[in-house]
Amino acid sequence: MRLEINGWSSKITFSASHIIPGHEKCGRLHGHDYAINAKIEGEIGSNGVIMDFISVKEFLRGVASELDHRVMIPRKDPRVDVSKSQVRYRLKDKEFLFPLGDCILLDIEVASAETLANFVLQRMLETVRFPKNVTRIEIGVDEGRGQGAWTGQDL
Ligand SMILES: [Zn+2]
Repeated sequence: MRLEINGWSSKITFSASHIIPGHEKCGRLHGHDYAINAKIEGEIGSNGVIMDFISVKEFLRGVASELDHRVMIPRKDPRVDVSKSQVRYRLKDKEFLFPLGDCILLDIEVASAETLANFVLQRMLETVRFPKNVTRIEIGVDEGRGQGAWTGQDL
């Protein structure tokens, strides 16, 4: 049995900008509308449900609002330099300088839908308490409607 949360219809969405270094088109600063989706697999409990997924939705909405209207900075990229008030992102042929307050620093190497999905999944496993009957969690991050990256973990 599986619960599914659709980020678009549940309004678990955010708008943010990123850069994918080395890509001709995506190497330019640009933005997307994103949605975070989730699937929760498990047996139905004695109360007739897999779990109350309001806590999952609240968690996902919190993550989405953290990322909303920010420049997503992959802190693990060695070309990123964070100072007290600014973020410098120095690429081969250009350099970006952002006010720190406009950025969200993420512990990832590159701000792709794939790494964002991993980031959300790890944060969710650390934050949300799942009942024992839940056996698997999946997270999908859509970069625009109809295209996204999924990741999952067995519990
Ligand atoms: Zn993009």
